[in-house]
Amino acid sequence: MDYLPIFLQIRARPCLVVGGGEVAARKVGLLLRAGGEVTVVAPRLGRVLAGMALRREVCHEPREFAPDDLAGQIVVIAATDRQEVNRRVSEEARARNVPVNVVDQPDLCTFVMPSVIDRSPIQVAVSTGGASPVLARLLRARLETLIPSSYGQLARLAESFRARVRARIPDGNRRRHFWEQVLQGPAAEAMLAGREAEARRGLERELTAAGDDPRPQGEVYLVGGGPGDPDLLTFRALRLMQQADVVIYDRLVAPEVLDLVRRDAERIYVGKESDHHAVPQEEINRLLVRLARENKRVLRLKGGDPFIFGRGGEEIDTLAQEGIPFQVVPGITAASGCSAYTGIPLTHRDYAHSCVFVTGHLKDDTIDLNWDALVEPQQTVVFYMGVRGAPVICRELIAHGMPATTPAAVVHRGTTIHQQVYTATLETLPGLLKDREIRPPSLLIVGGVVRLHEKLDWFHPPAAEREEGGGAAGGADADSSAASA
Ligand code: SAH
Repeated sequence: MDYLPIFLQIRARPCLVVGGGEVAARKVGLLLRAGGEVTVVAPRLGRVLAGMALRREVCHEPREFAPDDLAGQIVVIAATDRQEVNRRVSEEARARNVPVNVVDQPDLCTFVMPSVIDRSPIQVAVSTGGASPVLARLLRARLETLIPSSYGQLARLAESFRARVRARIPDGNRRRHFWEQVLQGPAAEAMLAGREAEARRGLERELTAAGDDPRPQGEVYLVGGGPGDPDLLTFRALRLMQQADVVIYDRLVAPEVLDLVRRDAERIYVGKESDHHAVPQEEINRLLVRLARENKRVLRLKGGDPFIFGRGGEEIDTLAQEGIPFQVVPGITAASGCSAYTGIPLTHRDYAHSCVFVTGHLKDDTIDLNWDALVEPQQTVVFYMGVRGAPVICRELIAHGMPATTPAAVVHRGTTIHQQVYTATLETLPGLLKDREIRPPSLLIVGGVVRLHEKLDWFHPPAAEREEGGGAAGGADADSSAASA
């Protein structure tokens, strides 16, 4: 170990920062967050520090550093862009045994500033001992995703129960098991979801039952897996994915997303294969209930957002009726994902002041939609499950008064490395689709905003990895598998 990691109490204690620029301001910010009383010595202050001085958050000495500035300080940080000043601060501080940090110069430091993940009262500090601050920051970003922001509240909850748990479970080993179970169980999950009262009740129950081998209670997580790129998952989705006992998913969930589910979790596929029927919705609802009753943590993983053409509402309706605890995690819906990754903003001051999401699901060769409402000018219309029905959609929109020259885009497997974008007009789109045989899942975007694609397109997945366009747009396709409206 090159350094001794410690957390220093600096509340209401004097700290010195030498330097007035942006870097100094960042260090000052950190000292202030920990409650330090900061003096800044610098002939001139940059914008940020000047503001802080004005608000009297720091005390400013407008002059060069002098050794006497170190008297009584519990730490000093040198952050000037003048090498000789930094060196002098370091030497003088070391002579007085005041811990000193010189930004980006480990050889002049007696302590280093770690990268911090702040979930007060929990703090995680990452240091490379000055070897590579950027690497520390990258590592920190990874840890940020692992430690949800509500962990701090969870720690406070645990703290408030600590004395009672100690009294009830005097044996240290048993107590550790108790906490391990509780902190990964439904009470903790309730706390992380912001349901403190429920978390407290749960913890009370666990505590009362401690020693009677309390059985965990099952729960269902209805999670939006986003449109395909796993980077678009939410922190909460990822966390729940990593603690699931069983995952129920369908074809819309990208394999890269499914890969992030806890390796040991049982996997149940309920989507349709080309010549098999999908598991009926009723049966999925019952499956969720049954698994939760077996005290499992059931992850119901959906493509996109579970509440946008995802039948999420129906699934939790059954759970609510049966009194099974559940939570819903939103996902990036296909419209948002495809819009962003194709440079087609859904609204734009020049082209669209509103945006509607509709299902283009074809039933008996028609689509039951309020066409008059869809042909409003200055509106973007996004059709989910609309590729097979595209000829009908284009025909009806034109028949209801939308100009035949209105631009339209089809986005196939948006946000993934297989993404393909085709642009046309209402008039030419059906022909284009016929030629290309575009397969699901694909999204249809209609409106003036499509014109922006040419200019704003930025996402270019490596061509080699892309799928060739062809293939049959099979009848029993995932395009219509998720739901109709
Ligand atoms: N709940 C999902 C939608 C389910 S309906 C969501 O919020 O995104 C299924 C339809 O979503 C598909 O037919 C297709 O129109 C659209 N879709 C889903 N993922 C897509 C993707 N990556 N690219 C293009 N369209 C997608």
